Amino acid sequence: MAIEQTLSTRCCIAGGGPAGMMLGFLLARAGVDVIVLEKHADFFRDFRGDTIHPSTFQVMDELDLLEEFLQVPHQETQYLNAQFNDTLIHLGDFSHLKIAKPALGFMPQWDFLKFIMREATKYPTFKLKMGAEVRSLIKTKDRITGVVCQTPGGPINIQAALVVGCDGRDSLVRQLAGLNVIATGAPIDVLWFSLSKKISDPDKVLGYFAYGKLLVMIDRGEHWQCGYVIPKGGFDKIKSGSLNQFKSEIVQIAGFIHNRVDELKSWDDIKLLSVAIDHLEKWYTDGLLCIGDAAHAMSPVGGVGINLAIQDAVAAANLLYKPLMTGKPVPNVVLNRIQHRRSFPARVIQRMQVVIQKGLIKRRKSNVDRKPPLLMRLLNALPILRRIPAKLVGMGVRPEHVKTPQVIEG
Ligand SMILES: Cc1cc2nc3c(=O)[nH]c(=O)nc-3n(C[C@H](O)[C@H](O)[C@H](O)COP(=O)(O)OP(=O)(O)OC[C@H]3O[C@@H](n4cnc5c(N)ncnc54)[C@H](O)[C@@H]3O)c2cc1C
Repeated sequence: MAIEQTLSTRCCIAGGGPAGMMLGFLLARAGVDVIVLEKHADFFRDFRGDTIHPSTFQVMDELDLLEEFLQVPHQETQYLNAQFNDTLIHLGDFSHLKIAKPALGFMPQWDFLKFIMREATKYPTFKLKMGAEVRSLIKTKDRITGVVCQTPGGPINIQAALVVGCDGRDSLVRQLAGLNVIATGAPIDVLWFSLSKKISDPDKVLGYFAYGKLLVMIDRGEHWQCGYVIPKGGFDKIKSGSLNQFKSEIVQIAGFIHNRVDELKSWDDIKLLSVAIDHLEKWYTDGLLCIGDAAHAMSPVGGVGINLAIQDAVAAANLLYKPLMTGKPVPNVVLNRIQHRRSFPARVIQRMQVVIQKGLIKRRKSNVDRKPPLLMRLLNALPILRRIPAKLVGMGVRPEHVKTPQVIEG
């Protein structure tokens, strides 16, 4: 492959999702030269997960960007509610979090990423290459010293003191680096589709449980983004039935959508998103680090993967900006510190996801109308308990704070 161009940077980030864009922004803001490579030509892909956690609002506040960020169209809620058969169940209460914006936000992820991009590009040390897909790693004497990426203009070599894999749950970077992946597996997949929203729709419910099934409905302003939890690999079986049968199944769970399920014209309107849970035994090797889903692929259960990705980025930037400024290779002890700091919060949440997923599948198999699980009933009965899931989902286990300076005026 004839290399068209060779660039050099302190930090090369593979992947422009929440982890990669936030890390790139924070490092550039601290004066570190950084290049983010994103394989897609734009951020405009649906069903990427749209939750903005209280911890992310808090990061924006610490960056003095909260006010501007809140101008981006979004929805907010302070309460997490679900409907179990006909009963409304209160599960979480964010209003007690002692932070600048104690709420859960819903914003299309492309708008979130575009906001970060807009802020990051104010710093001359930030470079973003869209349509740039990392294909291989450059190794010099057993150390990763850069990447080769494919761009519309041809392949580019990027030399870097550190490569950070933020390329998500199917990370090529972690595979090329030979990092050992420990798969926990996941017994569920999710079918995503959109349905229009009507003024009369219930607006305080995020999940509908009925007949052992779960339909999540995220308020996107104009429409609902719906996620229907199915057993792993079960989409083919569902498709072997008729589309009308599928529509009846989801109407059974959330009756009010009966007058718009015909918006689903074919199976093409329903996207299968495969769910995985795994983690890396070691998040780094000489010259390379992985964070976000590349280090610990998250299930959508609890909607916390973006939170963790952003928190990883904040922690990594806090620990990396000084060593990166020296221009020397980043010592493994620093990379180990990042893993040490962030692996515990990720594992705690993954364990919680595994337990909930098992419960979901068990209930689905039983296919009966039972009373809500004990935990749901407790949360519903005791308002004070609702602060616990709100804190866990909203802030994560070990909330991070921005410690990177703003060395150049953006
Ligand atoms: C069905 C489903 C629904 C979910 N819903 C939610 C939700 O509502 N809320 C929530 O918090 N979490 C949700 N999650 C989890 C969440 O999506 C992830 O945890 C989160 O996106 C991780 O962020 P990330 O930046 O690490 O990786 P990603 O968001 O996966 O971003 C990786 C980026 O790297 C790019 N990339 C990949 N390979 C390369 C390459 N070789 N070169 C260059 N670029 C590359 C990709 O295009 C992508 O932009 C969901 C997960 C699933 C499976």
